[in-house]
Amino acid sequence: MSTTTSASSKKPQGLQNPLAAPRRARLPLGRAQRWLAVGEDSAQPALPVFFTQGVLKTIKLHAASDMDNEVGGWLAGRWCRDAQAGTEFVVVEALLPAQQVRSGSTFLTFTHDSQVAMLSALEEQYENKCVVGWYHTHPRMGIFLSGYDTWLHEHFFPQPWQIALVVEPHSRQGGLFVRKDGELSPRRYSGFYELHSSSMDSVVDWTNLRAEPRPVPAQAEATAATAPSVAAKPEPKPEPKPEPKLAAAVPPAAAKPAAPKPAAAAPPADDGATRPIEVKRVTAKPAVQQPQSEAKPGAGEAPAQAQPEQDPQTENKP
Ligand SMILES: [Zn+2]
Repeated sequence: MSTTTSASSKKPQGLQNPLAAPRRARLPLGRAQRWLAVGEDSAQPALPVFFTQGVLKTIKLHAASDMDNEVGGWLAGRWCRDAQAGTEFVVVEALLPAQQVRSGSTFLTFTHDSQVAMLSALEEQYENKCVVGWYHTHPRMGIFLSGYDTWLHEHFFPQPWQIALVVEPHSRQGGLFVRKDGELSPRRYSGFYELHSSSMDSVVDWTNLRAEPRPVPAQAEATAATAPSVAAKPEPKPEPKPEPKLAAAVPPAAAKPAAPKPAAAAPPADDGATRPIEVKRVTAKPAVQQPQSEAKPGAGEAPAQAQPEQDPQTENKP
C-alpha cells in the first residue's frame, strides 16, 4: 500500500506531528487474550499491542469487503507507558478505513483526499487519539511487508511505536509488524493482544495465530484448578500449553459494532456515515507516485466510513 499525495502538496498534519510522550496507563493484561504467531515465544513483546474487539471485527469486515483488491486504512489509538511495568505499549481503539484509494490485487494507494478525510475523522471523532499505524490486506499473498510497504511505513509511520497490520482475507491470516530496536523486519510478524470488552469470547479467527493460554480471572469459577489465577499479573504465563483455537464467531452483519456517534470520514460526494462498509470503483484521477507497487494493477476504492470508537479500555491516569 502506498500513501500518495497527488496534486496538492498539503500533507495530513497528524502523521507528521505525533505525540511527544506516551500516556500513562496500566497494561490491560487482565482483560487481554494474547495471540501468538508461529514461532513467537510467550515472552512479553518489546512493544505489546492491544486491539479492541471492535477494531478487530471491523478490520475483518473491511478485509472481506474486497477479496480481490487491497483495502486498508489507519489505526488510531493510544501510545502508552506503564511506569510500574516499565513498558510502553499501544492500544488500537479505532479504525479509519481509507476511502478513495486506488488499489489492485497487489497494491493500494492512499490518495491525498483519503488522507485528508481520515485525518479529519481523527480530529473530529478521536481527538484524544493518535495514528498508531496502518493496516492493509494482501489478497492471496500472505503476510509480509513488500518493499513498498516498508518504504511507506518508514516515511509515514516513522515512530518506533507505530505498527503495520497485514491481513490475508482468503486464508484468514493476519500479522503485526512492529519495530524491534528500531528495525522493521518485513518478513517477521507477530501476534497481538485481543482486548476483550464485556464478553470473553474471542473474535479472532486468523488461522496462523494461536491463543496463548489465558489466566483465569480471580472471580472465575472453580475451573481454575487447572489454570492458576494471575489475572492482574503484568506478565504472560510462563508455560504456554497448546490450546484449541477459538472458534470464529463473527457473522458479517451482526459483528458490526454499534455506532455511538456518527462517522465523519464520509466521502465527498456520498455521505456514508452510518452505512456498513462498502466498496466502490474508482475512475478518478490516477494516483501520482508509487515507488514500487507490490504487483498487478487494478482499481478500487475502499470503504467510506470511519469506525466508531471502540470501548477504550486503557486505564489512563491524568
Ligand atoms: Zn502490502
